[in-house]
Amino acid sequence: PEGMLFEHERGGLVEFSNDVLSRLYIMVKPDGVQRGLVGEIIKRFESKGFKLIALKLTAPGKAHLEKHYADLKEKKFFPGLIEYMTSGPVVAMVWAGKNVVKSGRVLLGETNPLTSAPGTIRGDFAIDIGRNICHGSDAVESAEHEIALWFPEGVAQYDRAVDAWIYE
Ligand code: ADP
Repeated sequence: PEGMLFEHERGGLVEFSNDVLSRLYIMVKPDGVQRGLVGEIIKRFESKGFKLIALKLTAPGKAHLEKHYADLKEKKFFPGLIEYMTSGPVVAMVWAGKNVVKSGRVLLGETNPLTSAPGTIRGDFAIDIGRNICHGSDAVESAEHEIALWFPEGVAQYDRAVDAWIYE
């Protein structure tokens, strides 16, 4: 898929918007990997019904993470954030589905685990804002930007028979 068009499983091209088929970049941060929460996080997106279209374990360098978090570079926590994010490997993935960006933010919880409801990933597994175990894109546009940054090799395209049981 290129630009703002995405090929729908059932055929045809769909324009990205918050209300239709979209793609979400999710990343288990170094603390999530160290704490053995990779499977738990994958499980939540998988059992919800979203489709996994890319996945890798990777240890990004400082320059790559500074690109990923470019809009936060003036924040005083930025150096600590980069140090945290380069402290070990991360698990990068892309999920596709209807409203996956909005829905993903709900599954993830708030940026601060303190105000994240139980049942959310950050609400269930984290305490500090600077160790909140998982990243998720905050908008369809930033998701596309992040997917291009983390998966320049592209993502998978395949059909799932089960989609007929997930979407009406
Ligand atoms: P989100 O990850 O929920 O989209 P932001 O884009 O605002 O949130 O921030 C990116 C990441 O920077 C957060 O997930 C968190 O790890 C870290 N962060 C944000 N605010 C703070 C803060 N006040 N102190 C320490 N780390 C922070």
